[in-house]
Amino acid sequence: MTGAAPWPAGAPAAAAPSTGRAAAPRRTAPLPADLKTGGIVPQREPDRFTVRVRTPMGRLLPAHLRALADCAERFGSGELHLTVRQTPEILDVPRAALPGLLATLAASGLGRAAAGPVVRAVSGCSGCQVTPNGLVDSLGLGLEADARFFGRPCPSKFKLTFAGCPTDCVRAKGADLGFVGRVEVEVDPERCERCGLCSDTCREGAITADTTGLPVVDPQACVGCAHCVRACPVGALEAARTGLDVYAGGKHGRHPRSGERIATMITEDRALETIERTLAWYRRHGSSGERLGTVLDRLGTEDLAATVAEDTDNGRCISAQTWSQNDASPPGYDGRGRGKDAGSGRSSATDATEGAASGRPVRAAAAKASS
Ligand code: SF4
Ligand code: SF4
Ligand code: SF4
Repeated sequence: MTGAAPWPAGAPAAAAPSTGRAAAPRRTAPLPADLKTGGIVPQREPDRFTVRVRTPMGRLLPAHLRALADCAERFGSGELHLTVRQTPEILDVPRAALPGLLATLAASGLGRAAAGPVVRAVSGCSGCQVTPNGLVDSLGLGLEADARFFGRPCPSKFKLTFAGCPTDCVRAKGADLGFVGRVEVEVDPERCERCGLCSDTCREGAITADTTGLPVVDPQACVGCAHCVRACPVGALEAARTGLDVYAGGKHGRHPRSGERIATMITEDRALETIERTLAWYRRHGSSGERLGTVLDRLGTEDLAATVAEDTDNGRCISAQTWSQNDASPPGYDGRGRGKDAGSGRSSATDATEGAASGRPVRAAAAKASS
């Protein structure tokens, strides 16, 4: 039985994709040496290839979409497929058509995605540039990371993902290295009117009231989403700091693994250096074909966390030896970071607070800070 076509009823027959029939596993021919530079995947049919196109953070211009449609029709079967990491693939390309396809893609500003043991195209959401919940500039950070790290050799594949808030729609915790935006909130007792709205809003049950009705935030239960900041009608709940939590060692596949938090509340300007240090550590400790998560299973996370935090005063190393993952403040840390003053320039706790006080959403204040 063939699968159901994914197009709406009434779509033109010519536009319907092939569905195929289940077939027995078969051995595929090895990829010719001159094509082993990534993004070209042999299909099960002889002399047919899938070409994966590099689209960092899933962003495409209309001209790119037109070029993809043109390439699919001229060089493939006309069908495209989208991977779970926001990457389009052109299907059914004969080997003889590959040079023409690659030249046409390049002329339109598109390149091949990576394959094999390298840093793959960076994925993520649009963060504070677009989404109402966004707390950090995940889009800008992801594009910068892609420009700097895409294609870097590693012991195995290495996936980077940026999420704008703790909802993590883009599964940053399932990437080899994932960044998740968050805030730390504080209550201003002078401005608070004890209305209880923040407590009603918090889905984590992280806010209780003291005997005077003043909200008390449990840092262990708080995930840093800033919903309470947006809910407070008088701006008494403030996003005192905005930053990113860093998760290492996530992966999908037949043995999925969740990333472990190795640093919390790093400022945005620390993100690329965190990737650089993680890649250096991974190359030093990983064997050929070994994913970062497997290396961490073997060696633990403490050394990587310490490497990432080395020589910095605005990120917190999470070490199981010194404090638990959910502790608010490790020993020796005063609980306050430098925020925008540290040089991030993208999002600002101060502006976020101003935004809440003025009725503007947190992300609008963050966007203002970056303008
Ligand atoms: S992770 Fe947060 S900011 Fe990103 S799309 Fe989801 S809700 Fe929006
Ligand atoms: S930031 Fe989110 S999780 Fe934390 S107290 Fe506010 S609403 Fe609750
Ligand atoms: S919503 Fe604002 S004013 Fe109301 S209890 Fe919470 S902090 Fe106080």
